[in-house]
Amino acid sequence: MAASHRLKPLSRVAVSGGTHGNEMSGIHLVKHWLRDPTELRRSSFTVTPFLGNPRAIEKCVRHVGQDLNRSFTTRLLSSAEAEDEPYEVSRAREINQTYGPKGSAQAFDFMFDLHNTTANMGTCLIVDSEESLLPMHMCHYIQTHHTWSRCPIYLYKLPGEETYAIDSVAKAGLALELGPQPQGVVRASLFAEMRALMACALDFIELFNSGMVFPAFEIEAYKITGRMDYPCYPDEDISAMVHPKLQDKDFLPLSPGDPIFQTFSGEETLYEGNTTIYPAFINEAAYYEKKVAFAMTEKCIFSIPSLQRE
Ligand SMILES: [Zn+2]
Repeated sequence: MAASHRLKPLSRVAVSGGTHGNEMSGIHLVKHWLRDPTELRRSSFTVTPFLGNPRAIEKCVRHVGQDLNRSFTTRLLSSAEAEDEPYEVSRAREINQTYGPKGSAQAFDFMFDLHNTTANMGTCLIVDSEESLLPMHMCHYIQTHHTWSRCPIYLYKLPGEETYAIDSVAKAGLALELGPQPQGVVRASLFAEMRALMACALDFIELFNSGMVFPAFEIEAYKITGRMDYPCYPDEDISAMVHPKLQDKDFLPLSPGDPIFQTFSGEETLYEGNTTIYPAFINEAAYYEKKVAFAMTEKCIFSIPSLQRE
């Protein structure tokens, strides 16, 4: 049998709520923990909750200048402060100072990032790629132990793309993406779900730190292949909506010839790709500003090697 991969035990874990200022489950969960952190306490590591984008939270908007969760690139983190820069660029540097620096030995061991989507993605676990061993084991543990719901795994990084999300500041990370929930709304069921997922994930870290061996496994995950834009008029206004037959069908197969859009005059647009894909973030409200209708993924099976602490 192959030897387990060995990783150092985790000692410092952070949790961001409100990386997007209108995604209310994580905002209220983190605000709750800032008042009473009892349920975050574990014996072998510390958990630090924080509000990702306080100015956006105050206004209940996704961001005030630019998307904070796309602001953790090396270029932006190392850029000189400028008076006219978006608030999120300076906030990203601040978060990098506190929980990073990204890629350094001093960085926090792990960061959770709590999100909501208006899409019907259920209880989705987001990892940068299948090569992130500890987060993939955490996802497997959650899928095995948090049995109320199916927890699909979404791998967000396109090949060759740099990590840019807030949790990339820490040595490893996981984002929770729960939906559907309207922006600015907190639904008790999703709040409870997010809270239970976090408890389960922290239990996993405690077991990992205690020396438990996590055997190898095979796991299904949805890996991003690209994004589908809305069709537009020449003036760049969108000219169609997500087709009713595609609405709410996140992570279900979409085959060549299936309808994807309905124009405002009532015509159908069909999917013209060559292979079956698995759309996610279908009709996500936050993506209208980028005119993205959904993310395209392929369903893959990955072999993840066994894991144990050093
Ligand atoms: Zn978000």
